[in-house]
Parts: sequence; C-alpha cells; structure tokens
Amino acid sequence: MRSFIVRQMMRRQNGLLEKLAELEKTQYYSEDEIKNYQEEKLQRLIKHTYESVPFYKELFDKQRLRPDDIKRIDDLEKIPVIDKETLRSNRERLLSTNIQEKISTRRTGGSTGVPLSLVSNHKECIITNALYYRFLRSMGYRWGDKILLFWGERVVESFVAKYKKKISNVIYNLHFVSTFSVNDRVLSNLISSLQKSPPKILRGYASSVNLLALKALDYGLKIELEAVTTTAEKLFKFQRDKIEDAFGKNVYDQYGCGETFSIAFECEMHNGMHIASEHVVLDLVDDKGNKSSRGNVIITNLDNYAMPIIRYKNGDTASFASLICSCKRKTPLLKEIEGRVSDFIEGHNGNKVHAEFFTHIFGGLKLAARYSIKEFRVVQEKIDKLRIEFVTEDDLSKRDEKIIREKINEYLGNTDIEIKKVKGIPMTRMGKKMFVLSLLNREQWQV
Ligand SMILES: [Zn+2]
Repeated sequence: MRSFIVRQMMRRQNGLLEKLAELEKTQYYSEDEIKNYQEEKLQRLIKHTYESVPFYKELFDKQRLRPDDIKRIDDLEKIPVIDKETLRSNRERLLSTNIQEKISTRRTGGSTGVPLSLVSNHKECIITNALYYRFLRSMGYRWGDKILLFWGERVVESFVAKYKKKISNVIYNLHFVSTFSVNDRVLSNLISSLQKSPPKILRGYASSVNLLALKALDYGLKIELEAVTTTAEKLFKFQRDKIEDAFGKNVYDQYGCGETFSIAFECEMHNGMHIASEHVVLDLVDDKGNKSSRGNVIITNLDNYAMPIIRYKNGDTASFASLICSCKRKTPLLKEIEGRVSDFIEGHNGNKVHAEFFTHIFGGLKLAARYSIKEFRVVQEKIDKLRIEFVTEDDLSKRDEKIIREKINEYLGNTDIEIKKVKGIPMTRMGKKMFVLSLLNREQWQV
C-alpha cells in the first residue's frame, strides 16, 4: 500500500519517473553514447547561457568566443574557470533573464561552509532527484522502503515548513535523526531502533554514521544493514572500516556539492564512485590548469538553466580510478575525494553538534551576504570555549552576535563564545582547511 502511495506521489513530480526510467538506461551507455548525450546537452546549455545570462555573455565576448565554438566536451577548456568568489560577487548577473520554468532558491555551504544562495530550475531538480532514486535503487530500494536519515536539520525554519516536512517524511517512510544534538542517549536509542526495526537504507554524513558505528562497536554489536550510504563529507578509510565492522560491507559513498547536487555515486562493486555524466562534466586539473588524473575538481552543470554553472572549481580535489568497473557502467570512476572534512563539537552538557550546525545558523541569518563573509571557522579550544572567526571587513551587529550565542548555548549548554574578524583561515598540517575544528581531537586532524 505504501509503495503504491509513494509511487503516486512520485507521479505528481512532473517528469520524475520518466527521467528515472531514462537514467536507468543511460547508466549502461557506451562511452560514445555518453559523449553524444553530453554534447547535445552542452550545446543547448551554451546557446541558452550566451543568449540570456549577462555574466557569460560578457565573459564569452571578452574571450572572443561564440556559442558555436563550444560543441565538443573538449571545447569546454576554452572557457575560463570560475570559483565560489565569482559566484558570490556576480550572483545577480549569473541569473538567466529567460527562464520559463518554475525556479527555486536554495542555500549551500560548499567546501568552506560559508552559505551561498543558488537558483535551480524545475528540470534540474527533476534530474537530480531521479539520479538520487537511481542510486537508491542500485542499493535495492523499492518505493516506500524505510530510510533512516542521520544528518542536519534546519536550525532557523518556520513552523509551517517544519510541519510540511514532517508529513512528507511520514508518507515517504523517512525517519530523521538530527546530528545537531547527538549524545549517548540519542546514539543508544538509534542503535536499539536499528536492531528492532532496521531501515532498508541508513543514510547520513560520513562523520555522523561513523559515530553511530563506533557506538555499536562499543556495545560489541554487529547489526547487518542492507545498505549504508554516506555523503556530504570525505569518507575516510578508517571510518569506512568501522562502519563495515558495525553494519556490514554494503557501504555506498556519494559525492556531490551544493552547486550541482549529485556528482558521483558508488556502485555495487565498490570500486569507486561513477560520475553522473548525464548531469555533470567533471575534469581534474593540476595547479597550472592542465588536465590530470588527480587534481582540482572542475565541474559543469549540464542542467541548470536558471543559474548556469560552467567550468566551476568547487574547492575539492580528487583522483580518477584507472580500472574499468566490473558493473558494466562506462562512466568515469572517481577513486578518492579530498573534499570537505569536518568535526563534531561537543558541549559540556554532553551534546555533540555536527559542523553543518554552524552553516545552518549562519545561513539562516544570511550573514554571508549581509557582512560579505568569505570564510569562517569555528574552533573549540576547551569543552566550554568556542572561537568563531569570520573573514570579513565588517563588524557583526550586537543583535546577530546575540542570536548566534543563544543558538549555540541552546544546543551545547552555557559556552564562552568569542566572535572575531580575521584576515584568513590557516590550513591544518594535513593541508586541509577545516571550517569546524575541535582542538579536543587535535591528534586526529594533525593541527
Ligand atoms: Zn561500477
């Protein structure tokens, strides 16, 4: 019955089931077929972008490029690379003046955690949703199966929005546990719920699922789950090992970024993550900008017509796997992502909050736009002392500072919070920029 209802709900999302059926086929396309599919989409996107997006019209004209110059995937190299700062400072000029579809706005943290406001058109939402369901189905998901989500919630959200989400979760059989207030009791309850009524799929931030696995192992438990999928952060080998020890071998990592949603998904052979070539073109380039098998991720979103994102350096680095996967998919495989790394902050009340907690607070207050914040970092020096550093020229208002303090105290207990302006954020010894860092775990991150 539930499966019937969920399927009917899917039908109401205009074009979703049709797109899913198409993607179930295209995932087994030959290399030539994939290339043709991408190039057809690319030509359409470039024409639309040149004609209706002021930023790209000017960029193309400056480079003396015409839409006809970009026909093949390799032609993309003619277009200069843009980055997050480009998106931030040209946001309005990156919007298409000719979009007939319904559009939606969303906020993303990106690799630095600083929220950025982006716009999508309906067709992009459909394809990214369909890619997600294709991924779930590759793990054995059927409509209406129980999914347990262990990740962030919106900290600043209206009552109506919260209520609507609750109803939708009931219909879709989604069970949500927030990683913004994790403590021993929450983890223990979650473990017993996994034992009593296991979900078909457990899905969460890599660090959150790892935390749950460690708890199960603490209890000496092994709970075989059908599938576990991790997302939003780099899944380290030490985390995957623990998750497998606790929940079995069916761990599927996923890579995406807020600017394009889905980028790559691990398949059932677990050889790496296949790029969703139907939706993105992904290149890796070295620091000089030359193509490489390992380097900076440069992505082109083939489906966003509302705010086209072409040749975008998202701040992550990755490497390609050299093998051909035995699952018969011919799309390129990503071996390793050096993406986002984040930490939990633990309050003296015993609660842990995931790094995304801070992105949600700052995003909800629209701080990045209001104070031109380029980066931020939250450092936990002691169990009851946090330092929040903003890379900005502006001073935060007393009111905003007060709200930040109140929200943090609400989740972590009474905490001494220092808020300061800084010129930049240093790297850790591992060469990572961590936007949330607990010095209580200094060893792990080689600060
Ligand atoms: Zn494969």
